[in-house]
Amino acid sequence: MRLSSFYLPTLKENPVEATIASHRFMLRAGMIRQEAAGIYAWLPLGLRVLRKIEKIVREEQERAGAVELLMPTIQPADLWSESGRFDAYGPEMLRIQDRGGRDMLYGPTNEEMITDIVRANVKSYKQLPKMLYHIQWKFRDEVRPRFGVMRGREFLMKDTYSFDASPEDARKSYLKMFAAYLRTFRRMGLETIPVKADPGPIGGDLTHEFVVLAENGESDIYLHRGLIGKDIPGSDFDFQGNLEPIFSDWTSLYAATDEMHDEAAWGEVPDEDKLSLRGIEVGHIFYFGTKYSEPMRARVQTAEGKEVPMEMGSYGIGVSRLLGALIEAHHDEDGPKWPASVAPFHIGLVNLKVADEETSKVCAELEASLEAAGIEVLYEDTTDRAGEKFARMDLCGLPFQIVVGPRGLKEGELELKIRKTGEKTSIPVDNAATHIIKLVQEELQLLAIA
Ligand code: ATP
Ligand code: MG
Repeated sequence: MRLSSFYLPTLKENPVEATIASHRFMLRAGMIRQEAAGIYAWLPLGLRVLRKIEKIVREEQERAGAVELLMPTIQPADLWSESGRFDAYGPEMLRIQDRGGRDMLYGPTNEEMITDIVRANVKSYKQLPKMLYHIQWKFRDEVRPRFGVMRGREFLMKDTYSFDASPEDARKSYLKMFAAYLRTFRRMGLETIPVKADPGPIGGDLTHEFVVLAENGESDIYLHRGLIGKDIPGSDFDFQGNLEPIFSDWTSLYAATDEMHDEAAWGEVPDEDKLSLRGIEVGHIFYFGTKYSEPMRARVQTAEGKEVPMEMGSYGIGVSRLLGALIEAHHDEDGPKWPASVAPFHIGLVNLKVADEETSKVCAELEASLEAAGIEVLYEDTTDRAGEKFARMDLCGLPFQIVVGPRGLKEGELELKIRKTGEKTSIPVDNAATHIIKLVQEELQLLAIA
């Protein structure tokens, strides 16, 4: 992609409304644009990251056995009356009437609709288990939308729903999602901690929030130090096998949200292992049994011929919030430092003198060889000053920058900068493409764990 034909409306000044790094950089790098409070247009650079996050989320959902569908954003109120939530949900729900005066709403979540879809067809335990998911825009009229995409009103969520014939099977579905989430976030270069969340009136211990540790997070969490840097399910992990060991490995050490904090249990954690930190909730998984299937009469026949409501769980990931969380976790004062797996492009190729024939020739050849190898290149081919080019590249946060100019070329060299460390090295022009392809592939491999 050539910058001259791309659409990258960067800002030099810090927008006053942006108080945290991720919000500031997303606006400044031209990734998003606010259209109304908590409602954003996704500009090309931001959209590329959003799509990469979605792709990883999809791959790991499929791997865990979930099947994708797509439910609409606008829902009829009737379904929500069946569950009792049309009245219970409150002012966060955006309510709409169509021309016939029928009550509709912009979905804040999809439990009712998926229950309706599944009850229409699933009548026997033989058709279960099922895990269905979609990645769809949600609307919640938050009291205080803030921090850009972190707490938006319109936001993109991945939500999965599991259906089982018994609580034992429902637990298995829950553990699959638990393991899938560990893998999903790690592949994005994020360390997340599953923390015990509030099950509300439903009770039980099968609800966890997945939290990214970050100073600007909105949640207070308490955790055992041993949870940091823990192993996650790797390439040999069998989602069909016994998932209890991985679950107990992660949940036997103390980790709780504010609401679930238990002073007695906390007291048993050795002082040197106690961490009380702030975090960003990027995912939430929840087993809620028959909360919706009971009132909505979503029932199946068991092997014994009994009719029972299906056991359900729901599993959310804040896909758009993840961009904010990723930047909070990876940035410096100049901009984000995207992990290669979610970076909008892998390489920023900076041409220092577009008017110089040789420089432009080398750049074009490099761009072609890298793209032929599947490397995504943002080719900075504008006539702007070098300083401006460098600042903009840092602001874009691409993992690698290659700087090509007449002076270096005279020595047969170009410069490679690693955004993560700031390290710069000269590399020979001759085998530059091979060298860079290898570097990008290695970086992607580090995060692959697949
Ligand atoms: P929060 O406690 O942050 O308000 P929630 O518990 O209401 O979130 P869930 O219903 O569990 O959210 O939604 C699943 C995921 O969707 C959350 O873990 C979060 O990552 C994301 N999410 C929820 N609300 C928002 C929002 N207003 N803006 C962006 N992402 C959101
Ligand atoms: Mg939640």
